[in-house]
Amino acid sequence: MKFVGAHVSAAGGVENTPKRAHEIGAKAFALFTKNQRRWEGTPLTGENIEGFKAECEKYGYSMDQVIPHDSYLINLGHPEQKKLEKSRKAFLDEMQRCEQLGIKLLNFHPGNHLNKINVEECLDRNAESLNWALNKTEGVTAVIENTAGQGTSVGYKFEYLARIIDGVEDKSRIGVCIDTCHAFAAGYDLSTEDGFKAMCEAFEKTVGFEYLKGIHLNDSQKELGSRVDRHDNIGEGKIGLKGFELLMNDERFDDIPMILETPNTERWPQEIELLYSLVD
Ligand SMILES: [Zn+2]
Ligand SMILES: [Zn+2]
Repeated sequence: MKFVGAHVSAAGGVENTPKRAHEIGAKAFALFTKNQRRWEGTPLTGENIEGFKAECEKYGYSMDQVIPHDSYLINLGHPEQKKLEKSRKAFLDEMQRCEQLGIKLLNFHPGNHLNKINVEECLDRNAESLNWALNKTEGVTAVIENTAGQGTSVGYKFEYLARIIDGVEDKSRIGVCIDTCHAFAAGYDLSTEDGFKAMCEAFEKTVGFEYLKGIHLNDSQKELGSRVDRHDNIGEGKIGLKGFELLMNDERFDDIPMILETPNTERWPQEIELLYSLVD
């Protein structure tokens, strides 16, 4: 079964997210557990925590369908030690917030090398950061998102994600989220049957589907291999409906949260319906 949803707003408190997801017809959802543009987060209160759990139960969301995204400021592969430590602390806080909320997955981007270290060093720093944070927490899996490869961001090739996983000691708590727009921008042509098949084979050979914990469903405004990250509405970008039809009918993508991050939030109810209508 497919669990399609969207990244809903946590305005007013994380306890408001399950209802918002329910209102748009989502079977899964993403959220920020703190303000994503600030380093410090206000600690979660008992009201936030109990409210979130009760609302998930009320609207029928299991913790396998909830995948928060960490702050955009965090760079777990930062080339400078002081800034790396700041990112690690902020990431640990994000992991601990998930622990408090009973959430099992935390999605993050593998950061930027900023032309100060090479790609491999940046990836290895990511793995070290993850080992450090995983050792201090329990029950939360860190989920690496593939990037579009814009600027100096690492992680746009599946081989890079595999290298991070290789360096993580506890393989039971590391996973991958494939963003369809990022994959396309990075050169994986999921818009055609042959291209989609090739992408899946490449993923299986490098990372392995056992590590797949989530999908971000976005069409791409930019061309194949452009390495530019611009999300488009489903079926209206360069990927087109065919790519999403292939995805929606492939059982290797069953039972994981599939999250829309498309630009028109008011269209999410229709986009969710559209995606389900593609299932044979
Ligand atoms: Zn994404
Ligand atoms: Zn993106």
